[in-house]
Amino acid sequence: MVKVPTKLVTWDEIVEWSMGLSEVIKRSEFKPDVVVAVSRGGYVPARLICDFLLVDNLVSLQSQHWTEAAKVAEKAIIKFPYKIELSDHRVLLVDDIVDTGDTLILARDFILSEWRPRELKIAALQWISPVAKIKPDFYYIEVKDWIWFQYPWTRHEDTAQFIKRIIVEEKEKKEWTLSELEAKFRDSYGIYVGDKYFKLALRTLVELGMLKEENNKYLVRSL
Ligand code: AMP
Repeated sequence: MVKVPTKLVTWDEIVEWSMGLSEVIKRSEFKPDVVVAVSRGGYVPARLICDFLLVDNLVSLQSQHWTEAAKVAEKAIIKFPYKIELSDHRVLLVDDIVDTGDTLILARDFILSEWRPRELKIAALQWISPVAKIKPDFYYIEVKDWIWFQYPWTRHEDTAQFIKRIIVEEKEKKEWTLSELEAKFRDSYGIYVGDKYFKLALRTLVELGMLKEENNKYLVRSL
């Protein structure tokens, strides 16, 4: 049984979606002169949009809400609330996905009150319309059923967290083989992240002291 519906997003899809989103922005005739990437999810799409729309200015703002994969924190915060002057600029605020919308609402309100741009519009690759508190001005994909998108820039982090959750949930089981973990991962998340990422995530959990590798088995340590 898949526990968290998850879709593995490829780099090719990211390029295709960012290109598609750039076309939507172009058609609107909105011409941003500064792109603001919401850190960290908006970085890659923002950089690609700068390329597709030929925008030179790229800054970022860290607004954080989801501290772990598929687990939402109670409150979104602006991590480094620095100040810049944007009163002559048209800003495009970019994120990967609008889920609850809290991250973007916070970033938007901060920019409007502290950076005071001439104009501000919001773009996201994806918009989960039934749950989001805001609709971005521009989006490429409307998502109708909630799902966790496993983006390529969080593959290592998400995989390590997902494996950790499997081990925590089955706390009586103190020894796992690689294939047992792989099978459970596929059952729980329905995706295959590839051998390199899976082994990298396991190495990370070993380095963090949560697992110990011994005789081709992973022994559960402190969690
Ligand atoms: P939110 O404040 O709920 O709109 O989401 C904030 C950030 O968390 C997004 O910009 C993503 O980086 C990440 N995120 C939230 N929901 C998802 C999801 N369903 N799939 C992948 N990433 C997500």
